[in-house]
Amino acid sequence: MGDAGRPVSEVLAELDGLRAADAPTRGGRTFAYVYDSGRPGVDELAASAYRTFATVNGLDPTVFPSVARLENDVVGAVVRVLGVPGAQGTFTSGGTESILLAVKTARDHARAERGVDRPELLLPSTAHAAFHKAAHYLGLDPVVVPVDPVTFRADASATAAAITDRTALVVVSAPSYAHGVMDPVPQVAAAAAEHGVLCHVDACIGGWDLPFLARTGRPVEPFGLSVPGVTSLSVDLHKYGYADKGASVVLYRDARLRRHQYFAHAGWPGYPVVNPTVQGTKSGGLLAQAWAVLRHLGADGYTELAGRVATATGELLAGLRALDGVRVLGEPAGSLVAVAVTGPGGEADLGLMLHVADEMRVRGWYLQPQLSYDGLPPNLHLTLTPATADRVGPLLADLAASVTAALAAEPVTVDPDLAALAAGLDPDSLTPEDVAGILAFAGPGGAGTPGLPSRTAPVLALLDALPPRLKERLLTEFVSSLFQV
Ligand SMILES: *Cc1c(COP(=O)(O)O)cnc(C)c1O
Repeated sequence: MGDAGRPVSEVLAELDGLRAADAPTRGGRTFAYVYDSGRPGVDELAASAYRTFATVNGLDPTVFPSVARLENDVVGAVVRVLGVPGAQGTFTSGGTESILLAVKTARDHARAERGVDRPELLLPSTAHAAFHKAAHYLGLDPVVVPVDPVTFRADASATAAAITDRTALVVVSAPSYAHGVMDPVPQVAAAAAEHGVLCHVDACIGGWDLPFLARTGRPVEPFGLSVPGVTSLSVDLHKYGYADKGASVVLYRDARLRRHQYFAHAGWPGYPVVNPTVQGTKSGGLLAQAWAVLRHLGADGYTELAGRVATATGELLAGLRALDGVRVLGEPAGSLVAVAVTGPGGEADLGLMLHVADEMRVRGWYLQPQLSYDGLPPNLHLTLTPATADRVGPLLADLAASVTAALAAEPVTVDPDLAALAAGLDPDSLTPEDVAGILAFAGPGGAGTPGLPSRTAPVLALLDALPPRLKERLLTEFVSSLFQV
């Protein structure tokens, strides 16, 4: 902010200019982070609805009753698709907040109803990182159960066997983000119920796609609150609901359970506080835009869109399975695909995968590299959206060309000296200078310059070789370096 204010047109032009280096959010070339319905008018509708409610404060529905009305409409719509009679929920700012709240609810429920004072959070190894964040913020001990190494689905019997009298919540995904496969929700939920433990279904990404996919006649395994033993569920409307970012819902079996989510405080001289969510003051705009997009598309619109995405996913999978040098991981339940790039021996090859990611980036596509973890292979993640539907052919052609280019490229190697140096670092006393040194060493184009190197393969290959704790510390310092004023 300068001393002198700037004219509106200049300010807006500056913002437009800042978008130039970003990945495109529309047009079906960015396979993570963005969701494009491909329908004309949806973005404009969301923006207008936001504007109408931008100045409304969702903090107090007694002063702004419209907020309660909109939220009940949105949550009611989600209950009709994924709930049971009596289910209640809350509109939140995103999947992470929905998950934080579900974990808080389970922690407080376990404390109040079962006297659990050192709660555990039981997770398949593919559970979203947001559960680890919730455990970290809220003081639960995560207990991680490896998934099946072939199907990438949660192992129901191993999960059941890991339930203890400290377990506050068992988590399953419908589907998982990393591989897009469905966990065995009925089996895990039944085991949780048998032990009197709550069970959360993370349907953040699948919850507004799979039910509509079922309406097109395709087979979908059950995962909603109607599955016995499921007690809460999260679904992001800013993913396959095609609302703008900042829109998710967390559902509970009933209001009695949801009560543990709420925070109330009357012990201060200000207004009495009742916060259902993490935020206090919150714009009514995010809720209004989600409400508007839901109302505009309707169940029929979502069904049509789910069908389009599924057709594109089917074409992509067929193309990938016919393509040498790649292997689809697991059996995708919806429109998320994880694909390993394989070396001559058929093994998932990290270096080739990273080269392919860079090659695809050069060709104008963003595929998301996922590193190896606990024996699970490194791979490229693609979240498809309706806007991809017309692009599967060009995508496959560029992928084939990228695989060829990756095979011809200099193999990605991690300098053993650098790996030894990095591995010898103590994660707890790492300084920003250590990280800068490593990045400069590892990445051509990364040297000394802030921001992302154009070729990410060397840096990611090094990261992949490091223990998780050190990876976390290096990445923290790296991201911190991006936010220097
Ligand atoms: C996106 C996602 C989340 C986290 O949601 P955010 O909206 O990014 O906070 C959690 N679980 C799954 C399966 C997801 O796909």
